[in-house]
Amino acid sequence: MNPLPDYHIHTVLCKHAVGEAAAYEAAANRLRIPEMCFTDHVPSMGGYDPEHRMALEAFSRYKEMVAALQWCDGHPEVLFGIEADYYEGCEDVLIKWLSVHEFDFVLGSVHFINGWGFDNPDERHVWDSVDVAATWRAYFEAVSKLAATGLFDAVGHLDLPKKFGYRPSAIALKKMVRPALDGISEARMGIEINTAGLRKPVKEIYPSLEILAMAQKRAIPICFGSDAHSPAEIGAGFDLAVRLAKKAGYTDYFRIRKRKKRLFPLEG
Ligand code: ZN
Ligand code: FE
Ligand code: FE
Ligand code: ZN
Repeated sequence: MNPLPDYHIHTVLCKHAVGEAAAYEAAANRLRIPEMCFTDHVPSMGGYDPEHRMALEAFSRYKEMVAALQWCDGHPEVLFGIEADYYEGCEDVLIKWLSVHEFDFVLGSVHFINGWGFDNPDERHVWDSVDVAATWRAYFEAVSKLAATGLFDAVGHLDLPKKFGYRPSAIALKKMVRPALDGISEARMGIEINTAGLRKPVKEIYPSLEILAMAQKRAIPICFGSDAHSPAEIGAGFDLAVRLAKKAGYTDYFRIRKRKKRLFPLEG
């Protein structure tokens, strides 16, 4: 099977990843990955999470770093994207900012619930003092709101709250995922099969087979992302990701350009 595009890649600019964009491109080239999309974290605006993202002044450097790779011929094809957080009130800054820059792909992620960075290892202990099911419910409610904004092309790591292994019951999970997937489908958004979870305590791809099968029934298109924070993580776990997608009933995946998706068959 030919390698698939990797649509979730960070760079050193976000302060918690290593490697310039060119190092990621070289790694993708070695793996014969046909297409890659940089989706570094959206810059800190309005004082939002400045420790885990580039300063707004660094954004032009990000843009140049990616553009420099787009100018040279050869593989892989390089796309310009961003991983933008959804949080209460983000629309105020995002609507204008996203329209100014010509992104190929805007990946929408929820990393915070009421100001708690629930996937941050430094804040992991909070999980021991919260109602796990209520936390997951709040997370999926945020995903529904993310979809309703119409600002994003796909949702990143859809069941991220499982990262450290805290989960609701299977029945409760299904009930809370349903409206979120309906919202994603109505917004004509995709979801990402994100292999970073394989490298985290949960040791699973995001999202689970159960959620992916529910998404497939709604014809929600998928793409693949390693969420690489170092060049060595490019394309990591994609063999397992493809297997999971097929098991969920998927026969195609999307590629995107200037925010327009097109479906391509999953081979093999
Ligand atoms: Zn990150
Ligand atoms: Fe993320
Ligand atoms: Fe990411
Ligand atoms: Zn991510």
